[in-house]
Amino acid sequence: YMTVTAYGSHGEEAVEKAVTEIERLDGLLSTGEESSEIAQVNANGGGTLGKDASYLVERALEFGKSTGGAFDIAIYPIMKEWGFTTGDFKVPSKETLDGLLEKTKLSDVVFDKETSTISFKTDGMAIDLGGVAKGYTSTRIMDIYRECGVKSGLVNLGGNVQALGTKTDGSKWRVAIQGVEDDDSYLGVLSISDKAVITSGGYERYFEQDGVTYHHIIDPTTGYPADSGLISVTIVSDDGTLADGLSTSLFIMGEEKAAQFWRENSDEFEAIMETSDGKLYVTEGIADSLTTDMDVTVIEK
Ligand code: ADP
Ligand code: MG
Repeated sequence: YMTVTAYGSHGEEAVEKAVTEIERLDGLLSTGEESSEIAQVNANGGGTLGKDASYLVERALEFGKSTGGAFDIAIYPIMKEWGFTTGDFKVPSKETLDGLLEKTKLSDVVFDKETSTISFKTDGMAIDLGGVAKGYTSTRIMDIYRECGVKSGLVNLGGNVQALGTKTDGSKWRVAIQGVEDDDSYLGVLSISDKAVITSGGYERYFEQDGVTYHHIIDPTTGYPADSGLISVTIVSDDGTLADGLSTSLFIMGEEKAAQFWRENSDEFEAIMETSDGKLYVTEGIADSLTTDMDVTVIEK
């Protein structure tokens, strides 16, 4: 589900444009839509990308480098094998996954920024921007709001929130961070202005087989759903694309590596991480902005 909210005299126009933009980007970036640029690139083993997809591929490849390969847009063949792309779920054999890992190497994605052309060094490779598309979309909506003269607005794309300015009374937005238990539970409430608040959790798309839960965030070193001890990661940043890419990446890294990554990049984002044993870790830059009933461990520089 999504909600799009913009206040002020141009609010209605801004909301209409935002909805049009969401549909446009979905049509360009979705692997599920046969006509999308990404689906075309995957079907043809490469091609030339338009402005949005080109920007996103470039950023996604950057995240791949900065996260030491945790973020991997070439993961699509493995997403497909698990059935996450169709909902026709199955647990692949280890041999199948090991074979497919040969087709998910980031170093085999060739992207030329000048010409916006992408190609793959190995047959059967394919990309998936599902780990960054929502965050990019919410950031584009902030641009549209600004262009329309809106100073206060919010977008919520399935639990991923980005806010422009403050509420109309000047107070901060209060964003509930989704919990794992069920749709109504939440970890806490974060007070923010002018920020994206983006959560990755192992509970958003998953299936169960023989009592084991398999979710849709794949560890590119194994081909299996990431099993890092984290069950939810929320990233808070000015940059929605970065927040989305890093929410997926830090989920894969696990708490210790994620904390270290934050220390090295703390000018760019803050994080909230929940572990499977019920601990909540919060980076020091947003510790005071979070209201929660849970016991909090503050991650310090
Ligand atoms: P959500 O879609 O629930 O908002 P995420 O932002 O965490 O969650 O993105 C998960 C999606 O990212 C998956 O559905 C898949 O398309 C893609 N993905 C899965 N594993 C990886 C990975 N290691 N690197 C990059 N993208 C991934
Ligand atoms: Mg993400």
